[in-house]
Amino acid sequence: TGSTKIYEEFLELVKNTPGIVLDFAPHDEDGEHVGVKKTGCQGFCELGPLVRIQRGDEVIQYVKVQPEDCREIFEETVVRGEIVDHLLYTKKDVHYKHPEDIPFMAKQTRIVLENCGRVDAESLDEYIASGGFEALNKAMFEMSRDEVIDEVDRSGLRGRGGGGFPCGRKWKQVARQKETVRYVVCNGDEGDPGAFMDGSVMEGDPFKLIEGMMIAAYAVKAADGYIYVRAEYPMSVARLRHAIAQLEERGLLGDNILGTDFSFRLHINRGAGAFVCGEGSALTASIEGKRGMPRVKPPRTVEKGLWEKPTVLNNVETYANVPKIILQGADWYRTIGTEGSPGTKTFSLTGAIENTGLIEVPMGSTLREIIFDIGGGLKNGAQFKAVQIGGPSGGCLTEKHLDEPLDFDSVKKFDAIVGSGGMVVMDTNTCMVEVARFFMSFTQRESCGKCVPCREGTKRMLEILERIVAGEGRMEDLDQLEELATMIRSMALCGLGKSAPLPVLSTLKTFREEYEEHIRDHK
Ligand code: SF4
Repeated sequence: TGSTKIYEEFLELVKNTPGIVLDFAPHDEDGEHVGVKKTGCQGFCELGPLVRIQRGDEVIQYVKVQPEDCREIFEETVVRGEIVDHLLYTKKDVHYKHPEDIPFMAKQTRIVLENCGRVDAESLDEYIASGGFEALNKAMFEMSRDEVIDEVDRSGLRGRGGGGFPCGRKWKQVARQKETVRYVVCNGDEGDPGAFMDGSVMEGDPFKLIEGMMIAAYAVKAADGYIYVRAEYPMSVARLRHAIAQLEERGLLGDNILGTDFSFRLHINRGAGAFVCGEGSALTASIEGKRGMPRVKPPRTVEKGLWEKPTVLNNVETYANVPKIILQGADWYRTIGTEGSPGTKTFSLTGAIENTGLIEVPMGSTLREIIFDIGGGLKNGAQFKAVQIGGPSGGCLTEKHLDEPLDFDSVKKFDAIVGSGGMVVMDTNTCMVEVARFFMSFTQRESCGKCVPCREGTKRMLEILERIVAGEGRMEDLDQLEELATMIRSMALCGLGKSAPLPVLSTLKTFREEYEEHIRDHK
């Protein structure tokens, strides 16, 4: 009876949650404890739904599981302990049984995504069993507040939201403000087209994000925190709310946590879908109930952020790095990544790539490792042309950049940014003028309209690009595009405007002949 019930539960999950990764985990030491659970995303989107069978230390990974496969999995693997070969990931006649052996997974280093796809994201017990809250415990009972900030500072962790500002320095600046009311805010307003890293962390391991925020709050003496979540992420909101409710119930969030003087309340704010609200001052304005518009700086968020109080504002991935840094130390963290950008970076691989999905690699990995070794190269054997990195605020990298190590500083030299980590891979069939037009139409639509260079300038640039794509362009349009881009970059108020021309500038620099062909061929 028990196994029928588990089978039905398993079948229901496979039927009703397409795209959601499942973890089917029989713990069968004496043949009685068999269970099925739903986890967060394992990252290998291309091959979902994924089912992971855990039998003691042995783990088997099945891919592209359909409802009609469930009976076979249950009878062969769960009951008889046999492997169903046709459900394994297979490449060049090699069947990969263990998930970590699959090339997509084998080349990754997972810190932020460590628990994603392994634990039940809705279970506090499971998070604790996997080492969760040990870092907070260490911070609260074995370290002073200054030591916590120092450890994060020494680790060299830089903000993963795009800017790459040193996280420890930000915390220090908040901690030394005279104002005693302080806030900790998490930017979960991931709006770049093609980016889904933060959403996967909020859905797949919400407790890790919360633990990172709690460590920050403890360190800077903040009693309230806010997570600003993108409107299009209802599952993130649900999982975070569920996590907060469990923590409150156990006395791990709220007043006098674990009998100490540390009190921390956590609130969720849902964005309304405006890309500009990913900008710090627009985000805090939106939490305050005002229209989400950037303001002139200074004062900076660390001095006058949310409700004009000193505020630590980091994104999801940044906070999710913190527990491991506290637990294993800054020196350990610095062994990963590069000198100037320690640690790992999550990227979402999309576009014309064989293995679309979510990955985490050490900073300093090359594009070749990411696109070809992990991503499996281009779909249908097509030829690589370029990759748009950093979303609408980023730029295009091409074949000549394939072997350059990627980190915050190196990509800037190529007129691109790591950004939050979106990577759209393009093959030789892609029209780069169309790509530039797409990103410009996105930023133009998302411009909040507060300042003229961005509001009007992006509109004029989009008009020119549309004209060129429609075959009505003139050669002098290219000079005008560059002029407008330079003006917007230097005069726009916030990062959205300043970086809006980047996709145009970088495609103009590398693929100018495509623009010229568009103009010539349509004459
Ligand atoms: Fe708004 Fe654009 Fe100005 Fe930023 S640069 S404040 S998005 S109009």
